[in-house]
Amino acid sequence: RESKLKHSSYPKFNFVAKKLHKRLLQLGANMLLPVGLYIYIYIYIYIYIYITLSLYPPPAGLAPLSEEEKLPPRYVFHFLDEISDKQTEHLQTTDNSWPRSVHDRGGGDPSSSGPGAYIAGDVVTMRPCNAAEDVEHFCQLLKLDPECYFTLTPTDSSTVIPFKLCPCSVRFLVEQFLDISAVPRHSFFELLVSFATNELERDKLLEFSSAQGQDCNDFLMSTLFDQVLADFPHNTAEISIDCLLDLFPEIQPRSFSIASFLLQHPNRIHILLAVMKYKSILFKPRKGLCSSWLASLDPYEGDVYVPLLVKKGSLSFPQDPGNPVIMVGPGTGVAPFRSALQERAAQGKMANVLFFGCRRKKLYAQHRVKEQSKLLWDLIAKKNAFFYIAGNAKQMPTSVCDALKEVFQKEGGMSENQAQEMLDAMEKAKRFQSETWS
Ligand SMILES: Cc1cc2nc3c(=O)[nH]c(=O)nc-3n(C[C@H](O)[C@H](O)[C@H](O)COP(=O)(O)OP(=O)(O)OC[C@H]3O[C@@H](n4cnc5c(N)ncnc54)[C@H](O)[C@@H]3O)c2cc1C
Repeated sequence: RESKLKHSSYPKFNFVAKKLHKRLLQLGANMLLPVGLYIYIYIYIYIYIYITLSLYPPPAGLAPLSEEEKLPPRYVFHFLDEISDKQTEHLQTTDNSWPRSVHDRGGGDPSSSGPGAYIAGDVVTMRPCNAAEDVEHFCQLLKLDPECYFTLTPTDSSTVIPFKLCPCSVRFLVEQFLDISAVPRHSFFELLVSFATNELERDKLLEFSSAQGQDCNDFLMSTLFDQVLADFPHNTAEISIDCLLDLFPEIQPRSFSIASFLLQHPNRIHILLAVMKYKSILFKPRKGLCSSWLASLDPYEGDVYVPLLVKKGSLSFPQDPGNPVIMVGPGTGVAPFRSALQERAAQGKMANVLFFGCRRKKLYAQHRVKEQSKLLWDLIAKKNAFFYIAGNAKQMPTSVCDALKEVFQKEGGMSENQAQEMLDAMEKAKRFQSETWS
């Protein structure tokens, strides 16, 4: 029977029961009755499901792909016995598609509009590298010699070689190109299973590559490529090197809001970086690839090269000095506003309000916005102020928008609809802008 507590306000209401139910369905159980969730009765529901599970056999296992069904790798690797001095020189100096700039000389001539020039609201994108110990570990798992050089031949005429450095070393490929520390996708397990010779490992990989297996498994939500390789040693030993670029995706660049003003910091780009490190169900704490890599660089130990590009961001600040700006940038969200404040101060545009910092005692950005309702209303309604939000997505942008609408209602005597319309109109006129990331 459907219980009244189905929509209980408990955040994890019957969590275990629901999880077990999902898992039993995945194993092929059939339900005798619809699930009824209540505080004490779910124990009986387990029993029903177990009974059906024993009556009905699980569906036949998925079959691995036959040789004919397997897709050929996109590239063939040719290992070189030796590499000439000329080729080695070429390897060290030739660029890939990314420009290479010295770590803290990323800017450019402030008066130019060249590749290093930037204005407030711009972002810098960087492509990180894998840490040396992760490269070693990966090479050990796949029994690769990092010092070997190779060239690539595409197996299809329409496939292009993804990096200009060819020949290149295995170390270069793993360190700078393959994203070995990401969460593997469905396609990774699908391809991995095609190498399986060990029955136990093959069955588990088949489960992981099925749609149901993907939905139900916490391990898959947080595991990383290297963990999978270590957990399936027989399978890993069978992986063909030709499939490396099919198995592992390319490292993607990460964006960072520029936090400096070029005229004040010529030849420099400042960023505010949060180093990501968090615990998952895995033993090893997980680290953000780009933030950990940037934090590990030390320009005092010699030149450090960071491939980076300056791009136009989504925030633009008013040119008219008469327009005040209100900026909400909790955490690293303050980065673009630091740049804007430096730029506006240098240009004599001073009327700014900035909300920044970390949450304290359950006080969030939206509480601070509401506290300043009179000032904000005055600036927005009477002085044509621009309003900006930047920072970590999740709840923050919506909560700040809600707080702003409450300010309109409280100080401007508006209805909820009118407040929404006012916000929409501001957005259309670019007087409300946001740049958020997850
Ligand atoms: C326009 C823009 C501007 C940005 N500006 C800045 C900035 O100024 N400063 C800044 O520090 N960052 C900024 N970022 C974010 C930055 O680009 C990176 O996303 C961030 O640094 C993390 O990258 P990473 O490579 O270290 O982490 P990754 O290796 O990419 O790992 C991050 C992944 O971990 C997941 N994750 C995070 N926390 C947990 C958790 N507790 N449990 C489980 N999974 C989790 C995330 O969902 C994400 O998929 C900006 C992003 C954009 C798009």
